[in-house]
Amino acid sequence: MHFKFSISIFLFFSVSSVQVLGKMTKLSVIFSPLFTVNEYVFMVQARGIQIRENVRNIGVQVLEQVVRGTYSINGTDYSYDFNMSESDAPPTTYLPEGFTYLPSQVCPEKLPSMKGRLEVNMSEVSLEEVERSLLQKEPNVELGGYWKPKDCLPRWKVAILVPFRNRHEHLPILLRHLVPVLQKQRLQFAFYVIEQGGNEPFNRAMLFNVGYKEAMKDLDWDCLIFHDVDHLMENDRNYYGCTDMPRHFAVKLDKYSYMLPYNEFFGGVSGLTVKQLKKINGFPNAFWGWGGEDDDLWNRVQYANYTVSRPHGEQGRYKSIPHHHRGEVQFLGRYSLLRHSKERQKVDGLNNLNYSPLVSRRPLYTNITVNLSRKLAPIADY
Ligand code: BGC
Repeated sequence: MHFKFSISIFLFFSVSSVQVLGKMTKLSVIFSPLFTVNEYVFMVQARGIQIRENVRNIGVQVLEQVVRGTYSINGTDYSYDFNMSESDAPPTTYLPEGFTYLPSQVCPEKLPSMKGRLEVNMSEVSLEEVERSLLQKEPNVELGGYWKPKDCLPRWKVAILVPFRNRHEHLPILLRHLVPVLQKQRLQFAFYVIEQGGNEPFNRAMLFNVGYKEAMKDLDWDCLIFHDVDHLMENDRNYYGCTDMPRHFAVKLDKYSYMLPYNEFFGGVSGLTVKQLKKINGFPNAFWGWGGEDDDLWNRVQYANYTVSRPHGEQGRYKSIPHHHRGEVQFLGRYSLLRHSKERQKVDGLNNLNYSPLVSRRPLYTNITVNLSRKLAPIADY
C-alpha cells in the first residue's frame, strides 16, 4: 500500500511539474509585451498553490490510513482504492430526445434531459437572486421548495437534507446548481436546511436525524439524500433517486484528486430509503465536531447486511466550494466511538433523540433551526 502511494504521489508531482514546465515553454515561445512577467509569475505561483493543496489533501488521507491501521476499525483492511478505471461503467442507454412522457406513467430514470457533464458555477450569488431566477424559469415551485413533475409520475419522493452552520454564501450556490438538475431528473423533491444553533461543536449526523424527523412530518418521503452544502455534482446522470441498497453519491471529489480516499468512505452525499434509515436507527448522535459520523453510518449499513451502491465512473464526480473560514474542530474521540459502532447502533440514533425545532419556509427550502446539546441524545460514554 505504501509503495502504491509513493508511486502515485511521485507520478502526481511529475505530471504537475511537467505541466508547469510545458506551460512555461509554450509561454516563452508566445511571449509578447501583452503577456507581462507579472502574469507569468502569477500563473506559476497559482499552479504551485494548486499542487500544494492537492498534496496536502493526499497527505491527510495518508495520515488517515495510518490512524485507521492503528485502530483497525472492525478489523477491516482500509486499503486505498485508486479506482481510476472507467471500464466498469455500464453502457449508457438514455432515452432519445423525442421521448413522449405520459402523466399516468412513472418517470423513467435515464431521461434525455440528463446530458451528463455539467458546468459548475461557484460564483457567489444572493439567496434572493437565486430564488428569483429559479422561480422565473420554473414557477411551479411551492413555498418550501416543493416540486414535482407534471408530465409523468415521479419515481421517488426525495427529501434533500442539508446540515448547516455559517455557510450563508454556499447555500444559494448549491440551490442554483442542484434545483434544475432535480427537475431535469423528474424527481419529486424538497430541500430541508437544518441549521445548528448554540455553541456546541457541529453535529452533522444529529442534524440529519432532526431533518429526517421533521421532513417526515411534512410528507411521506420515500428517499432521503444527506447532502453537504459545499458539494456540487459534476454530472447530471448522477440520479438522486434511491436504490435497494444505501447509496454513496459523492465518490470522486476534486479535493481528493477524484479518487475515493478509502473504500469505506461514505461522506459528502449519501442516500437511503426511509426503510433503510429506520433499519439502521438513523445516524449516530454522539459525534461532536468534524469527522467519523459518516464512517459510523457505513458501519451501521454493514451491520444491517446492506452493500453500498455507487454511481459508475464519471457520474460520481463532485467539486467542493472552497471555504472562506476555518473548518469545524476535528472530533478526536471518533475512533474510540467507531470501535463500538455495533453496540451503539441500537441505543444511539433516531431512538434517543429529543429536540425543539424552529421551522420556517423559504421559497426554495424549509429552514429548521435547532440548538443541539449532549443531553438531547443521552448515551453512555464509550
Ligand atoms: C473522517 C470522515 C471523513 C473522511 C474524509 C475521515 O477521517 O472520519 O468523517 O469523511 O476522513 O475526509
